[in-house]
Amino acid sequence: MSGKQARGYSSTPAEIADAKRIAALPTEMQKLHPSAVPADQSQLAHVNTYGFLPGFYIDIPFVCRDCGKEEVWKAKSQKWYFEVHKAHVDSRPVRCYDCRKLRRDGLR
Ligand SMILES: [Zn+2]
Repeated sequence: MSGKQARGYSSTPAEIADAKRIAALPTEMQKLHPSAVPADQSQLAHVNTYGFLPGFYIDIPFVCRDCGKEEVWKAKSQKWYFEVHKAHVDSRPVRCYDCRKLRRDGLR
């Protein structure tokens, strides 16, 4: 790991285009994609209510509910959110980084 690391900041147009392209691939191809991050299912065992656990994470493109901006939910961020933060595996992104920050700071 070296150089600048994108960590939850606004996605670049290239990242969004890549994520959209990968999201359109069949699951088997997503799994083999270099940007896929393997899931540690033992860390997800707290939510095995319906039996489904993801085998890997892939960048997810989404549109912010508040400002309409396109952003990418990075595979690495998902791994942290589900396996460290212990969020429910059905959780999906709804707001961009900027809008989440505004809400967190109580400005919106
Ligand atoms: Zn937003």
